[in-house]
Amino acid sequence: MVPTDEDSTIVVLLGPPGSGKGTQAKRLVDEFQLVHYSTGDILREEVRRGSPVGQRAKAIMESGELVPDDVLGEIVRGRLADLSNGQGCILDGYPRTVAQARFLEQIRDGRPLIVINITVDDEQVVKRLSGRRFCPNCGNIYNIYFSPPKRAEHCDRCGAELQRRKDDHEDVIRERLRVYDEQTRPVVGFYQDWPTYFEVDGHQEPAVVFDEVGRIVGTCAR
Ligand code: AMP
Repeated sequence: MVPTDEDSTIVVLLGPPGSGKGTQAKRLVDEFQLVHYSTGDILREEVRRGSPVGQRAKAIMESGELVPDDVLGEIVRGRLADLSNGQGCILDGYPRTVAQARFLEQIRDGRPLIVINITVDDEQVVKRLSGRRFCPNCGNIYNIYFSPPKRAEHCDRCGAELQRRKDDHEDVIRERLRVYDEQTRPVVGFYQDWPTYFEVDGHQEPAVVFDEVGRIVGTCAR
């Protein structure tokens, strides 16, 4: 699909950590030519580069807490401004507080917003995240329960030893879920009466979730 001027839609993916927002976002990018902004990925890159934002965010992220709203606000404002005319995007991991949702209302500049909340229960989140591994060399992602590598803890593609994100250890996962309940669940309340708010059951197979997510975006973004 070639983007047109009507395609400046912002798709907000809501849902707890591990609900599959990143997986769904990647597929939306392929199918709808949307730009993918994952605030977690953006922050991890800042930490890796050791930038001032990264230095401020590192310890907060490792503990499972939220990085301050003003930091995220500037990041997202900048990314939306970078979009070329008519280009739509996916916000994956933003907004995560009601203050962020209000800020997005100020900066979205009349662009249409679709909110898709992918619901998953806590025990499933713990299993998905504690099983998650990534290859530090080629970036391939595994899950030791659902999509294990052929050789334990090693990448199928390049053989490197797999790693686990610091915030994917069970104590931090529980903290991230607590933070989600306290600070992000109210964001669902902020949007849930909007005509462009949708819920999708994230316990289903990723392909089934994508059928639903894709149908919503395909219908609303036109
Ligand atoms: P994620 O990869 O989306 O799970 O994000 C990893 C971590 O980055 C979170 O646990 C937060 O510490 C931080 N983070 C990402 N997005 C936001 C946001 N919108 N507001 C505050 N902190 C965020």
